[in-house]
Amino acid sequence: MAKLLICDPIAASAIEALRATGVEIDVQDSITLEELAEVIGEYEGMVVRGRTKVREPLIDKATHTRIIIRGGVGLDNIDVAYAESKGIQVCNTPAASSNAVAELALGMMFALARHIARADASMKAGGWDKKKLKGTELSGKTLGVIGYGRIGRLLGAKGKALGMQVVAYDPYIKHEDLVPLEELLAQADYISLHLPHTETTHHLLNTAQFALMKNGVRIVDAARGGVMDEAALYAALLSGKVAAAALDVYSEEPPQGELLRKLVELPQVVATPHIGASTKEAQARIGDEIVKLVQEYLA
Ligand code: NAD
Repeated sequence: MAKLLICDPIAASAIEALRATGVEIDVQDSITLEELAEVIGEYEGMVVRGRTKVREPLIDKATHTRIIIRGGVGLDNIDVAYAESKGIQVCNTPAASSNAVAELALGMMFALARHIARADASMKAGGWDKKKLKGTELSGKTLGVIGYGRIGRLLGAKGKALGMQVVAYDPYIKHEDLVPLEELLAQADYISLHLPHTETTHHLLNTAQFALMKNGVRIVDAARGGVMDEAALYAALLSGKVAAAALDVYSEEPPQGELLRKLVELPQVVATPHIGASTKEAQARIGDEIVKLVQEYLA
């Protein structure tokens, strides 16, 4: 390969290993789209995470590019079909961050069950709200996992290890934990989302689905913002239908619109800034997989 441009931050060890393959590596991991459009014509390969948006106008300038590697899972920041129509191979590192996301979802379930974030905020403000912070236990509760792929199944196994009943909904696979969506919504004390955001899954959870849920259900979204209708979630949190929610992803990131700000600021919401894959271990695995993909490409 002539030259490879790393457009978003990746592990330093991966950059070293990439250089060791003999490929010429340029690192410009805070490059703007305008700057990228100027230089991309020189590169045979590009490595991106979620920050760099590889849309049609950029792909049109990438006249010598043959491979785009996305470190991470979702390919929503790349116009994959268009890139492929130009003969560019697009690949990602889908399994590298699965455990990190499953552990965050589990941590969020504990945070919701035991009000950990609220307790901490109150302590830091000098409070001692022991009486207001009575929690619940995960053991014995029903966990409904929507999307039972890599992350969903890992979370299911962790839930079972804690003594939870696990039901899952996924129309595209076979598994003994699967039930129809309506059944999952009716049974689950915790619902965790682990499916991609596509035209079909957009607002999969909306006002009608919230109405089918148990009163006081707790919801975790560490998948993608648009899968849940955030306005419907906000209304369900205000009415008490949903007791609490934990969000790592948003339809707008960072969330700046009025509705999303109000949602994030609710005391019964625990919000994190899209950190599902942000563990040292996952970042190292993503780096290792990027190196493997480059080696396979060269071979
Ligand atoms: P995966 O492809 O292994 O699993 C996704 C599952 O969703 C598949 O089994 C698929 O059949 C199922 N699915 C598709 N449409 C569905 C529908 N309409 N209803 C129910 N299930 C449906 O993917 P994964 O690696 O487990 O990732 C799951 C999600 O997590 C993705 O949206 C990914 O973008 C997101 N993710 C988030 C972070 C983060 O930082 N928060 C990090 C990595 C991945």
